Amino acid sequence: MKTLRIPLHWQILAGMLAGLGIGLLIAGLGQSGRDFATDWIKPFGTIFLNMLKLLAVPLIIASLIKGISGLKDISRLSRMGGRTMLFYITTTVLAITIGLVLVNLMQPGSFISAETRNDFMRQFAATSADRIQSAASQQARGPLAPLVDLVPENFFQAASSNGQMLQIIFFSMLFGIALILIEETRAQVVISFFEGLDAVILKMIDLVMMIAPIGVMALMAALIAEAPSLDILIALGTYGLTVIIGLATMAFLVYPLLVRIFARQSWFHLIRGILPAQLLAFSTSSSAATLPVTMECVTDGLGVDEEVASFVLPVGATINMDGTSLYQGVAAVFIAQVLGNDLGLADQITIVLTATLASIGSAAVPGAGLLMLIIVLEAIGVNPAGIALVLAVDRPLDMCRTAVNVTGDATVATIIAAGLGKLHPRQRSSQ
Ligand code: ASP
Repeated sequence: MKTLRIPLHWQILAGMLAGLGIGLLIAGLGQSGRDFATDWIKPFGTIFLNMLKLLAVPLIIASLIKGISGLKDISRLSRMGGRTMLFYITTTVLAITIGLVLVNLMQPGSFISAETRNDFMRQFAATSADRIQSAASQQARGPLAPLVDLVPENFFQAASSNGQMLQIIFFSMLFGIALILIEETRAQVVISFFEGLDAVILKMIDLVMMIAPIGVMALMAALIAEAPSLDILIALGTYGLTVIIGLATMAFLVYPLLVRIFARQSWFHLIRGILPAQLLAFSTSSSAATLPVTMECVTDGLGVDEEVASFVLPVGATINMDGTSLYQGVAAVFIAQVLGNDLGLADQITIVLTATLASIGSAAVPGAGLLMLIIVLEAIGVNPAGIALVLAVDRPLDMCRTAVNVTGDATVATIIAAGLGKLHPRQRSSQ
């Protein structure tokens, strides 16, 4: 029997619009409306988000092991890994550079009066102190800590704690490589198991996405109801606009140009294929929670072979954050401008270097980019308490930068697949 299926991006868009309407209505009711949203609407969004996060780890394990074992020889893996890193780092540096050019041209800091500055610093002092403390505890562990963190001492602990995706990737890659190296007859049974597991997880994602409109509606409604006041948004308008123009440049100019040059694909092909993941990233502000849908969009919508997608995307969700790095560049200079710190060329180069590392180190969860911004500020000698100036509008910008983060991952996956002859025409229409 034929059933009518509304494309996923329309379903998510409908959820977003419904959430926007409900959120505005609730916001109009004042504090009691906000309490209602927190108690009765937000939990449905949290359930949806948790379901997506729940699937991210098993999906990485099953698809990565299946993908690597399908490579048959390790040199192909290292070739793919090398190219992936090259493109990830290049796009990140490009993003920060665009952000820096824009913030230096638009000078959003000059639109903030001393009075507004003092007001923000007072209003958000407690929250910024809290974030600075979290960032300090991360930094206190020495320069090689990220390398040590890559290797889990206990697989189950890594799988159960949030933000340990790189550890899961490390284990799965080692497992996949070992599978290639053992006798084929023994490996086959394990490979078949992971192929089956991968199919089950993909079906589970389809099931979870059936409630996507409700989940997205709940997330958006709660966000709008809890949104900052209009005065704050207007005060920070030029800063927000600078970030958004930069993000739009990445999404609508840089990525399409890259897929055109390196994969001979059109802009429309890229956007149409990745749209559901972009909308979900926007609604959830988490690349990790969006990963299951990004994987489906990239394989089904963009035609990237699963062998490539299963390696490039989980790694990208964790370390490739072009939107985040661009935002960190703009925010760092904006804060310096407002606080009256003069930044020379050397400082701007330091921003490129530290924001690259900070975006790699940012976890794929809401607000992680803001935490790592503190490290960028410290590197250029700007008072980290200055994050108080950007806190109020961080969430809406987080939504936009997360959408760009997943688009960047999809772009690089398409390019890598094209280079390896692993880009197929669209197999089945996306959702
Ligand atoms: N929320 C972003 C992500 O998950 C990270 C950040 O910029 O805060 O990709």
